Amino acid sequence: MKELRNPKAVRTLLRDIGERAGRLPRPPRIMEVCGTHTMALFRHGLTPLLAEAGVEMVSGPGCPVCITPNGMHEAAIGLVAGTEGLTLATFGDMTRVPTRAGSLQTAVPARGSRVRIVYSPLEALEEARREPGRQVVFFGAGFETTIPAVAFAARRAAAEGLANFSVLPALWLIPPALKAILAAGEIAVDGFVYPGHVSAIIGAEPYEFVARDHGIPGAIAGFEPGDILLAVRSILDQALEGRPAVANAYARAIRREGNPAARELMAEVFEPFDAAWRGLGIIPASGLRFGKALAGLDAATRFALDVSGPGVDLPGCRCGDVLRGIIRPGDCRLFGRKCLPDSPLGPCMVSYEGACLIHYKYGRTRRARP
Ligand code: SF4
Repeated sequence: MKELRNPKAVRTLLRDIGERAGRLPRPPRIMEVCGTHTMALFRHGLTPLLAEAGVEMVSGPGCPVCITPNGMHEAAIGLVAGTEGLTLATFGDMTRVPTRAGSLQTAVPARGSRVRIVYSPLEALEEARREPGRQVVFFGAGFETTIPAVAFAARRAAAEGLANFSVLPALWLIPPALKAILAAGEIAVDGFVYPGHVSAIIGAEPYEFVARDHGIPGAIAGFEPGDILLAVRSILDQALEGRPAVANAYARAIRREGNPAARELMAEVFEPFDAAWRGLGIIPASGLRFGKALAGLDAATRFALDVSGPGVDLPGCRCGDVLRGIIRPGDCRLFGRKCLPDSPLGPCMVSYEGACLIHYKYGRTRRARP
């Protein structure tokens, strides 16, 4: 681990990357799919160093709070404001997403209702056990990393016969989003750094279409500076050799087959459907909802919530464009002016995995190449 942060090793990797980038016909543009990678790249100052080495990094859609459309956030706000004696449990970032109806943080709950910040769905489950007379809804946003824990909590609730627990699932799948970005063709991407924690569950196979059908190299990366640079170097090697693939540059944590038991659990509880993403529209089989067996745990059905649409962003917010990688946060005219971390106008300035917040905190942004 120490070696992956060693400044000398990092400099060597950057030199390797610069040498390889210089041999390509044009400066490569690589998308880091995951917001945690965006954070690591900025926190360690790697994005500008990679730019100096001739590699342009661009952020992708990997922030679950950000891609959850405002329609869902507004439904959650309406639920807690309009239902008495209910707990809406969710992750902290989710409470600050601004919508036309305010945010969960500013919502006035109905009598006896409250918004509770939790760190895991099991905390919400515990509240349902503790207070059987209260409806507890877990508003869970996450990718494949988080989904097995939500599935586990739902299965436990069903096994225990907890009639007062339900889930409003904002659960998203990464590979269909990549497919949508590539199909849209709005941005030329020369390589993908794939998310380490998502890959721990799904493995390497779901990304193979990117190399096979689009000829674009990629590598799964961990979150230390050396991890990310090894992945970038692997992507450039693949490009130079004309052998696009899905390399595993995080072999100390990721097996190529992922975690089959976690995937089985997900499949037992949830089924894919065509879901609406902020900025990306409706993407086939990109979201998960409850399958028949546990359909009774679906909060949208239990409380007659309409969560099907994309919702409406606040005027001027271009978070959807940021998530597609077609603009950088600094290209939004509200960035750092009207939209700030303590007065955000979109989720990308709220979430710790949001590109706007990360760019604001750690970096000066440059305009995207057209
Ligand atoms: Fe939206 Fe704010 Fe980002 Fe602009 S800076 S895209 S308003 S979140």
